[in-house]
Amino acid sequence: MSDRELHELRNAMGNALAKAMTSASVGDLFAHRSGSKITQENPVKTYANPPKECDICLEPVGEVMYDAKTKMGPWANMCQRCWRRNTSGRLGTGLGQKYEMVDGRFVKTEG
Ligand SMILES: [Zn+2]
Repeated sequence: MSDRELHELRNAMGNALAKAMTSASVGDLFAHRSGSKITQENPVKTYANPPKECDICLEPVGEVMYDAKTKMGPWANMCQRCWRRNTSGRLGTGLGQKYEMVDGRFVKTEG
């Protein structure tokens, strides 16, 4: 995939990103894993229409998915193994986010 394709894909997915949820089970799990309290300013965020496969190795992403900036520059949706190999290993604004599967949805737990 070229940088341009990746960029366009990312824009398309960004539109579908980040919906606040009020589900108690998801909220509790998010709070537990991230150490953050759910508030109106810090709602639980899920990744809508997440990819089934890692952008890099093309294997299924499994239970943990990262949306992160690679060492090469472009952002990618990737599995845990590719995240370790291809990124700075840090999460946060401008670096990347970690999502974990909860009740069939990818919930942001770090970054
Ligand atoms: Zn991968």
